[in-house]
Amino acid sequence: MANVESFDLDHTKVQAPYIRLAGVKTTPRGDSISKYDLRLLQPNAGAIDPAAIHTLEHLLAGYLRDHLDDVVDVSPMGCRTGMYMAVVGEPNEQGILRAFEAALRDTAAHDRPIPGVSELECGNYRDHDLDAARQHARDALAGGLKVQQTILLQR
Ligand SMILES: [Zn+2]
Repeated sequence: MANVESFDLDHTKVQAPYIRLAGVKTTPRGDSISKYDLRLLQPNAGAIDPAAIHTLEHLLAGYLRDHLDDVVDVSPMGCRTGMYMAVVGEPNEQGILRAFEAALRDTAAHDRPIPGVSELECGNYRDHDLDAARQHARDALAGGLKVQQTILLQR
């Protein structure tokens, strides 16, 4: 089976909340795509409820694009402790950090209907929790976001 970068990260050594450059891919035409972890919760110390991370997915999909150019994808981690984000190019980490902070502030302040929530637009439109999503955004901001370096597992 192919090696997966995130399985080489020592999840016991990181300190959430953080952003981490997980890797950079170069396409056959020479463009680069950077993948980031946007970690909200400390690994193995809790998880975001499915409805709340679903709402975070809907809100951060829009708000991150408001603050950052060329976002390819924002999607929840299966462990429910944060999100993955792919962006075109190699933006500097401080810029990613500021964009994530701004998107979390927008999320914490979001007091309108959640975008994309209907049977036509979403695959599980009943499964949302705006209050919990806002609380996770506030908690991450209060926790002090930082840039996390990759600490590889010693095998
Ligand atoms: Zn959805």
